[in-house]
Amino acid sequence: QKFSSIIPESLRSRTPPYAKLLANLAKVKQLTNNAPLTLAEKILYSHLCDPEESITSPNLADLRGAKYLKLNPDRVAMQDASAQMALLQFMTTGLPQTSVPASIHCDHLIVGKDGEAKDLPSSIENNKEVFDFLESCGKKYGIQFWGPGSGIIHQIVLENFSAPGLMMLGTDSHTPNAGGLGAIAIGVGGADAVDALTATPWELKAPKILGVHLTGKLNGWSAPKDVITKLAGMLTVRGGTGYIVEYFGEGVKNLSCTGMATICNMGAEIGATTSTFPYQEAHKRYLNATGRAPVAQAADIALNQYGFLKADPEAQYDKVIELNLSELEPHVNGPYTPDLSTPISKYAETSLKENWPQKICVGLIGSCTNSSYQDMSRVVDLVTQAAKVGLKPRIPFFVTPGSEQIRATLERDGIIKIFKDNGAKVLANACGPCIGQWDREDVPKATNEINSIFTSYNRNFRARNDGNRNTMNFLTSPEIVTAMIYSGNAQFNPMTDSIKLDNGELFKFQPPTGEELPSKGFEHGRDEFYPELEPTANADVEVKVSPISDRLQLLAPFKPWNGKELKTNVLLKVEGKCTTDHISAAGVWLKYKGHLENISYNTLIGAQNKETGEVNRAYDIDGKGYDIPELMIKWKNEGKPWTVIAEHNYGEGSAREHAALSPRFLGGEIILVKSFARIHETNLKKQGMLPLTFANEADYDKVTAGDVLETVGLIDLVAKDGNNGGFLDVKVTKPSGESFIIKTKHTMSKDQINFFKAGSAINYIGSIRRA
Ligand code: SF4
Repeated sequence: QKFSSIIPESLRSRTPPYAKLLANLAKVKQLTNNAPLTLAEKILYSHLCDPEESITSPNLADLRGAKYLKLNPDRVAMQDASAQMALLQFMTTGLPQTSVPASIHCDHLIVGKDGEAKDLPSSIENNKEVFDFLESCGKKYGIQFWGPGSGIIHQIVLENFSAPGLMMLGTDSHTPNAGGLGAIAIGVGGADAVDALTATPWELKAPKILGVHLTGKLNGWSAPKDVITKLAGMLTVRGGTGYIVEYFGEGVKNLSCTGMATICNMGAEIGATTSTFPYQEAHKRYLNATGRAPVAQAADIALNQYGFLKADPEAQYDKVIELNLSELEPHVNGPYTPDLSTPISKYAETSLKENWPQKICVGLIGSCTNSSYQDMSRVVDLVTQAAKVGLKPRIPFFVTPGSEQIRATLERDGIIKIFKDNGAKVLANACGPCIGQWDREDVPKATNEINSIFTSYNRNFRARNDGNRNTMNFLTSPEIVTAMIYSGNAQFNPMTDSIKLDNGELFKFQPPTGEELPSKGFEHGRDEFYPELEPTANADVEVKVSPISDRLQLLAPFKPWNGKELKTNVLLKVEGKCTTDHISAAGVWLKYKGHLENISYNTLIGAQNKETGEVNRAYDIDGKGYDIPELMIKWKNEGKPWTVIAEHNYGEGSAREHAALSPRFLGGEIILVKSFARIHETNLKKQGMLPLTFANEADYDKVTAGDVLETVGLIDLVAKDGNNGGFLDVKVTKPSGESFIIKTKHTMSKDQINFFKAGSAINYIGSIRRA
C-alpha cells in the first residue's frame, strides 16, 4: 500500500512492482532458510513466476549455473532493426496487445554522415516502410513508439524506464546498460522478447554471480569506461559467460549513475548475462533529475525497510575481482576485439611493436555507451582547453548524442556550439557509425590499407563501423578519444605528452573536469521526438506488409521435428572467432532485418573456412566452391540438411537472432562447436535448431566439411524432455565410408525440447495460446 500511494499514475508503468517483488522475495527467503543473497539473486528471484517450482533446494549453490529459472520480466525494449522480427513473431501469436509495457526505438537505421539536418530526413525516407510498420505495430498493440531521431534505445531506457530492482528484456545485446540504475536488464532475441510480451514464463539458466569489489575513487584522466576496458582485458570476451556481474564496495559510492551505465553496457563485451549495481545516492540524484523522484522514494523504502536493492552482508559470490579505482589508468582496447586491452602508458610502444597504424584517422564519441552529461562536459573541457590556445582537431571528429534529452541539454548549455565551433560534426541522436551506418568519406571504400580510428563506443569487431575489414577500431573513454583528435598520432599520450602549437609553443592538456548532472536540470527538447507515454492497444489499426516488399516479409512457421534422428552434412568448418557479426553481418544488411529471405543471403559471409583459410567460401561434395549462403540455399533446395562446426564462443557479441533464424531458414539443423555465447545458443534453441558442443574439444579436429553427422539417441533424449542437459552421441561418417562416434553435450531444458519438437518457440507458444 505504501508503494502504491507514493507512485503517481503517470509513473505506474515505469516503476518496478516493489510490493509484489518483496512478497516473492519473502517466499524465496523461506525456501532457502534465509540464506544470504547477492543483489542480482534478489532481483532475479523476486521475478520468479513460482519460487516453489524453481527453488527446490535451500542450497543456492545447487541452483547457480545448473537449474533453469522461469521469470516474469517487467518490461521489454526493442530497437528498430531487431523489433521488426520480434514483432513479426509476436503477430503470429494472434494476441491483441502486449502483456507487459514495451517500447520500440528507431535508432539503428539512421545513417551518420553530415549531421541530423541532412541525415535524418534521408534515413527516414530510405526506411519509411519499416518505420511505418513499427509505428503501426506500436498503435495496434499498445507499445511506445520512439521515432527516428529520438535517441538510442539504451540511453532512452536509462532516462525513462530503468529503475532499481526492475527486470527487463531488450532485443539488443547492450540492454545491460540499464543495470547502471540498479536493474537486471538482459539482451535477448526477438523470440525471447515474445515470451515476455505474451506473459509466457521466460527461461534463464540461473547465472553464477561474479562480484567486482570496487575501492578508491576515479581521478584525473580515468573514467568509468576504464573500469570495463580494464576488466575486459582481465576477463576476456568469454570471462563473463554464465555470470551476472555485480559491483559492490566503497568505490561504487564514488561513481555516477551514468558512469555505472557505461560499465554495465560494456559488460556485454565479456559475455556476461548482465551487470548491475546496488542502489546508491547517485541513482537517487539521477532519478530526481530525470523526473522520477517518486521512484527514488519507493526505492528508498524497498532498500531501507526491506533490505532489497543491495546484497546481504554474507552474500556469496562465485568469484570476486578486486579493482582499486584510485589506481586505474585509462585503457585502449583493440583492434578487432574488445578484450585486447592496453594501458594508455603502453599504447605508443605497443602500437609500434604490433605494427598498428601511427596515424589515427578519425575520432568518434557518444553512442549509447558514452554520451552522458558527465562524459560530454568532461570532453568539452578538453575542447575548451585546446581552443584557448588556438589548437584545432587534426582529424575528423564526430559526436553522437544518445537522446533528444541529452542533445537538447548540451545545446542549452552551449556544449554543442563549442563542439561545432571546434570542427566536430554532431550527428543525429542515433547509432550511426557505431553499427555500420557510417557513410565514411576520409578513406576510400575499397582499400586494402589498414587504417585506425578511436571511438568511445563498445564494440570493435572487424568492419563494424564502416564496413571496411581493414579499419582498426580502438575503444577507449571519450576523454582519451578527444585528446587523440588533437594529435592524430598513436605516439601521443595526453597524460604525459605535449602538442606543438603553430607558434612553436608546447601545449599540454590538464586532466578533464566536468559535472555529473546538468546544474540547470535536463532539457526536454523537441516534442516531436517524444511518444505517447501510455499508449493503449487499438485492434482497428491495420499493420501492413506488402507481399512484394524487399524490406518486410510475413513469417511462415518452421516445420516441426519429424520424430527421427537428425542426419546432416557438414557444410562448413569455421576457424577462429565467429561472432554474430560474422554469422549475420550488419551494415548494409540492416536494411533487410524484417525480411528473412533477403537477409539470409548474408549468412556466415564473414566466417573463415578452417580448411582453406578463405572467407565466405564453402565447397559442395563434388568440390565446387560457392559463397557460403549460396551453398546453403543449394542444399536447402536439394533437401539436404546441414551442420556448421566452429570453435569457442560461437555467436559472441550480440543478441542478433537472425544469426539463428537465417541458418534455420536455409536448412541448418545442427550447430556443433567448442562453446557457445549464451544468447546465441538460446536463440538457436528458440528457432528449433539443435546446438551441441564437443564433449571432447579435440574432436573438432576429427570432423571436416563433407562428413555426415547422425545423432544417436536424440529420440530417447526428447522422450526424456532433454534430461535438463547432458550428452548426445553423434556418428561421424567420412566421405571414405569410415565412421566413428563422438560425444557431444546439449543444454536443452524441457521447454526448449518443446521448441525443438514444435519447430520453434513461437510455434510452441502459439500452439499453447490457441489450445
Ligand atoms: Fe546503437 Fe551502438 Fe549502442 Fe548498439 S552499441 S545500441 S549500435 S549505439
